[in-house]
Amino acid sequence: MKETILIVEDEKDIVKMLDYNLKKEGYKTLVANDGEDALDMANTKLPDLILLDLMLPGVDGLEICKELKSERKTVAIPVIMLTAKAQESDKIVGLELGADDYVTKPFSPRELIARIKAVLRRGKENDKLPEILKIGELTIDFSKIAFTVKDKPVELTSKEFELLKTLIKVKGRVLSRDYLLDNIWGFNNAIEIQTRTVDVHIRTLRKKLKSEAKRILTVKNYGYRFEYED
Ligand code: CA
Repeated sequence: MKETILIVEDEKDIVKMLDYNLKKEGYKTLVANDGEDALDMANTKLPDLILLDLMLPGVDGLEICKELKSERKTVAIPVIMLTAKAQESDKIVGLELGADDYVTKPFSPRELIARIKAVLRRGKENDKLPEILKIGELTIDFSKIAFTVKDKPVELTSKEFELLKTLIKVKGRVLSRDYLLDNIWGFNNAIEIQTRTVDVHIRTLRKKLKSEAKRILTVKNYGYRFEYED
């Protein structure tokens, strides 16, 4: 059975178009017409992916994104934002808030389906990790998205957690900034969000790793690697 996708959009024609095309691809769909419904459905139905329009009556899309990514229950659900051309700055804010990708209106169903598949594929690759991993003084619980240093819980943002996970997954291999940007922020073109974003997140992540910060090594003019013995 294919995944369930929650459509959050108030414009009936667009909902109809999305619903039709997603079902044609074999996905199950849920529809929320406003922000409150969206949060309620995300929490009770736990969809595999959320298509989130930014322009909504009441609670707007960015606020919903922020709420979803700050709750443990919903933080792991990938979010693709639907934006209008005029909302360029909102895209950046949305991605900073933890959205996984965005599609600009008007978009073709084919383009959207391709994005959905890519985002879901990224999620599946993450499933290969063990539920709980201990590295030195760190304990990373991938199922609960929880993280401790010396048994003390440390709060990571969803992007910091993704970054840590991505670095650990490749077991000491070096990853370029572009790779990290593409895999965590979902960009092939590093123009929209500067590669500096990766550096900024690495910096805050290192701080939170405390005594184990030295495990994240900088490879000059290229990227980062996470040192660990299996
Ligand atoms: Ca709308």
